[in-house]
Amino acid sequence: MLILGLESSCDETAAALVTGDRRVLAHRLAGQEAAHAPYGGVVPEIAARAHVEALEPLIEAAFSDAGVTLHDVDAVAATAGPGLIGGVMVGLVTGKALAHAAGKPLVAVNHLEGHALSPRLADPDLDFPYLLLLVSGGHCQLLLVENVGRYRRLATTIDDAAGEAFDKTAKLLGLGFPGGPAVERAAALGDPRAVPLPRPLKGAAEPHFSFAGLKSAVARAVGQHGAEDIAASFQAAVVDCLLDRTRKALVGIEARPTALVVAGGVAANGAVRSALQALASEHGLRFVAPPLWLCTDNAAMIGWAGAERFAAGLTDPLDTPARARWSLDPNAAPARGAGV
Ligand code: ATP
Ligand code: MG
Ligand code: FE
Repeated sequence: MLILGLESSCDETAAALVTGDRRVLAHRLAGQEAAHAPYGGVVPEIAARAHVEALEPLIEAAFSDAGVTLHDVDAVAATAGPGLIGGVMVGLVTGKALAHAAGKPLVAVNHLEGHALSPRLADPDLDFPYLLLLVSGGHCQLLLVENVGRYRRLATTIDDAAGEAFDKTAKLLGLGFPGGPAVERAAALGDPRAVPLPRPLKGAAEPHFSFAGLKSAVARAVGQHGAEDIAASFQAAVVDCLLDRTRKALVGIEARPTALVVAGGVAANGAVRSALQALASEHGLRFVAPPLWLCTDNAAMIGWAGAERFAAGLTDPLDTPARARWSLDPNAAPARGAGV
């Protein structure tokens, strides 16, 4: 089975060719950092236009890298949300056009499902159900991944996402955009105990997350402490919160998961990975984290989610809408009226 995957929900345009037996035959990606850098964040209009320009050449390059053509694919998988609606539409409409032209089925993939299943692309031994900490630029959730298309959301953020907190901290410290990798590099040179920072919701009964207060505390620390000490203290606080909340969820689950898993852009963070690894061993669980390139946005994870859905007989009509918001768990109650 061969799937073409397309991704355009935020500021990465990407195309990949992925097989049902986990071979990534090609993956091409074009970032837009330079276009958005002057604004300190992603500008939706600029992103949508950049996707239009980048996508077709990336698809052609991916086919050429893999030495296959559109006629060799079994289905076209495209991100259909959630994300910046202009960008999502570019990838989804392109996917629909290719599927229609070649007479192949369309698989409309939830971007979060791409992140959620990406660890299974990297690790053939990862079985359902697993406890997933999904930490990305727009989301911070604990999910019980029960099967393809079956996700139970155990927790979400009541304000900012973890990646958003990294990006805002980087901006406050003048470290540039995107912030995660820059904060991690600065943190390596600082003292994590130098700046006293809050651990929002640590110890709370429900395993939800909150990062807005932490960001405000970082803003107050700017000018009082060095950037490296602030970065190190911030990262330590985030790790502490993620760990406490994940531990809370772990002890609350009735059925024992097969593994503790992390995915999404923040899963590329070394401190986050090693803390979760330790938590998993504390509970006698396997720990699975995708390789770094598979943590941040890419089309291989969309192609893989497409492969998993296609194998389960899940394809979508050509009038499937693009969605700005799209929860993985239709039954999830909002956390204190906030978060998706
Ligand atoms: P979402 O997936 O929620 O729609 P997104 O697609 O923008 O949002 P991702 O591409 O999954 O998010 O992740 C990007 C986020 O990951 C950014 O906020 C970035 O700062 C963060 N990030 C990337 N690398 C690191 C790192 N090494 N340490 C911490 N954060 C990181
Ligand atoms: Mg990005
Ligand atoms: Fe993402």
